[in-house]
Amino acid sequence: MRARFLSFSPPAIFEEEIEAVADTLRSEWITTGPKVEEFERAFSAFVGARGGLALNSCTAGLHLALLTLGVGPGDEVITTPMTFCASVNVIEHVGARPVLVDVEPDTLNIDPSRVEKAITPRTKCLMPVHFSGQPCDMDPLLLLAGKHGLKVVEDAAHAVAASYRGRMVGTIGDLTAFSFYATKNLTTAEGGMLTGEPKLLEHARVLSLHGMSKDAWRRYGRGGSWFYEVIAPGFKYNMTDIQASIGLQQLRRLDGFQRRRREIAAAYSQEFSKHPYFQTPTERPDVVSSWHLYVLRLNRKTLRIGRDTFIEELAALNIGASVHFIPIHLHPYYRTKYAYGPDDFPVAFANYHRTISLPLHPKLTDSDVQDVIDAVLRVAGSNRA
Ligand SMILES: *Cc1c(COP(=O)(O)O)cnc(C)c1O
Repeated sequence: MRARFLSFSPPAIFEEEIEAVADTLRSEWITTGPKVEEFERAFSAFVGARGGLALNSCTAGLHLALLTLGVGPGDEVITTPMTFCASVNVIEHVGARPVLVDVEPDTLNIDPSRVEKAITPRTKCLMPVHFSGQPCDMDPLLLLAGKHGLKVVEDAAHAVAASYRGRMVGTIGDLTAFSFYATKNLTTAEGGMLTGEPKLLEHARVLSLHGMSKDAWRRYGRGGSWFYEVIAPGFKYNMTDIQASIGLQQLRRLDGFQRRRREIAAAYSQEFSKHPYFQTPTERPDVVSSWHLYVLRLNRKTLRIGRDTFIEELAALNIGASVHFIPIHLHPYYRTKYAYGPDDFPVAFANYHRTISLPLHPKLTDSDVQDVIDAVLRVAGSNRA
């Protein structure tokens, strides 16, 4: 057993990131300014998007996306129960109603074949979430959006560097929100980016900073004027140059990070697929997953213990693990407000009880990966049914 606890998802921060932050702190500009501008350009170039708007979170990006596309009271937004609460909370923030549609059993992404039945005259928007980094099946969703005049906002918190049928995530729907939270594939500690058409982003940009017609960098910089006007009651969602300077370094590393994630996922699957206890994650042939999460599923009939005990026993062997996600319809706020029963989304519910997210990050050494494999096999082997 390993001597030191292996944490589930520490950030991969290196000396260059630390230096970049120090440089920014030594400069005369520490909040939204030239570094943010550079990061927006570099990130949208990486994705191949027409534009990028850096923000303080993905949640902010999703919120602004809905507002920018005119989603509001009385509207419905179709999304998945297999997501983080932020995706659905923002739908509540704009006064719209989240409509959940169950997931596909292989990818745990929203099931396009169930979406059309959920569309009503009030439906305004589809919000697919690329679970674990594997892109949703976007073509049928885009087809439905076209047919019914719906907007598409993608929650790409997991899906930086992922692609679907040759198209990068960030270039597919109307607006796409990425997360740079501490655990995500690319981090700025906290942060996010909205990508899409510059015209939409212009509106979102104003809303991201108090609804002001001009940001501080343009007011306080050389040739700037003190004058601004408030054209909407906006929010405080801007990214700082401190965060952007981390992001610029992380972006340089991203290809390497992604190679290492893919390698680790392949090593896990190669071992775990030999045993009857597990269902290993699938990657469909027409996508490139970003491998944000490695979600192993237990075949419950082959084991005497449930998922929770499995995770406890892994922790006793010094291996950190997690669960993604507690389905939205089980949370008290949503359960009560929309009178959901656990079986309203049977695929999400059944899989919730068998998923374990294993450590998957670029700092894992080969021996860490072997420790995870050994621990998982030991827990399963000693608890076989
Ligand atoms: C992390 C996450 C978010 C929120 O990202 P923040 O940058 O923390 O706001 C949204 N959706 C999903 C699926 C996530 O995993």
